[in-house]
Amino acid sequence: METIVKSDAENDEQRADPIELARAFVKSTVQIPALNSALSQEIKNKIKHSDQWLDRFTRVGDLLYYLQRFNAAKNDPIYQEIKKHGLETFEDIVGKFEERFQPWANDCLKISDFVIGQQYPVHDILILARNYDTRAGGMFVLEANDEPVAVIIKATLSEGRYPNEWIQSGEILKYYLKSISGKFGLHFKPNKAIKDNPDIPVVTFTRDSETAPFIFRGVFNYVDLVEEDEGRKAFKLRRVSEVSNATVMSFEQVQEKLEKGVRKSKERTRSERLKRLATAPKRPISYSVKTTAFLRNPDVIAEVLYRAQGICESCVKPAPFLRSSNEEPYLEVHHRLPLSQGGEDTIENAIALCPNCHRERHFGSLYAMKATTSTHGGKVSLNQVGMSLMHTKIAIAED
Ligand SMILES: [Zn+2]
Ligand SMILES: [Zn+2]
Repeated sequence: METIVKSDAENDEQRADPIELARAFVKSTVQIPALNSALSQEIKNKIKHSDQWLDRFTRVGDLLYYLQRFNAAKNDPIYQEIKKHGLETFEDIVGKFEERFQPWANDCLKISDFVIGQQYPVHDILILARNYDTRAGGMFVLEANDEPVAVIIKATLSEGRYPNEWIQSGEILKYYLKSISGKFGLHFKPNKAIKDNPDIPVVTFTRDSETAPFIFRGVFNYVDLVEEDEGRKAFKLRRVSEVSNATVMSFEQVQEKLEKGVRKSKERTRSERLKRLATAPKRPISYSVKTTAFLRNPDVIAEVLYRAQGICESCVKPAPFLRSSNEEPYLEVHHRLPLSQGGEDTIENAIALCPNCHRERHFGSLYAMKATTSTHGGKVSLNQVGMSLMHTKIAIAED
């Protein structure tokens, strides 16, 4: 099966599932050569272990995120041993992988892909949580720009350490906070994320016992904190009603969050911002709202506006007017390669444009070919997106 995918990869490029091709690419460049090498059995076992994860990914973006995690470990003895045998590692192939699978680089598992009442393997939950440790606890915090944007919980309803339970079946859940040696610290990251952000979506999976499968229950919100004897604490969580489409945030909320973030970013010193940019994830977290929006990095917007100094980076003319809200030159920050087509949320991929040049990038004949030949799914036309953005006057928050 595996070898068929590999040997036919070239011919199948047109019709094969991108994730199959992506997996085959990783296996044929890293795992298969390593397993056929003279590496020690111990290292080979570790490599085999990563196979277990590789087969679980259903989206190219998630696999890319997994590969990118390996980036920091170049002085790792295992990495050095593999290099000594002239072999490639995950770290080595990330660039090639990104290049080859760029159209799908931002295609990740989303909350809205989960169907209420359906069973999911724990691996799917961990991929959504971007945590690859199967022994990890029951709560995970998803962050963007250092702020928690969602909490994922896996609740065991009996045989667990604390008696999590339905107060009202499928609707109201009593869920014990993260605890360490019997201490339910409100400062523990996931506890704090919920307590400090009562509107944060709590993506909830439950299972009836340690051996039962997890079932997706929907997105819940914080209602109350229940304090019990011996300092035990539990959240009371209520399911958000119209969650069948899992609209976690509205389009407007996403924009609002971003505008707030840009204001904060501008208040930082430039060197502080550059430091943050250097370590920022290049791939934004995406949400299902009415259309797909990206939680863009406000530092990128602020820095590109700084770089432009009020001059359009395309026609090199000064911004045509000042923004009424802050009297700053009015320019819009555009992504050369749209995020929806795999573009990176980086200052290199962003350009500050006057409104004319920006409209031209989206609708002008010079650039129209590129936009309309996009093979990426979804097919919300640029026209629709552009118009709705114009009507909602969110000039800094475009793609
Ligand atoms: Zn211009
Ligand atoms: Zn744009």
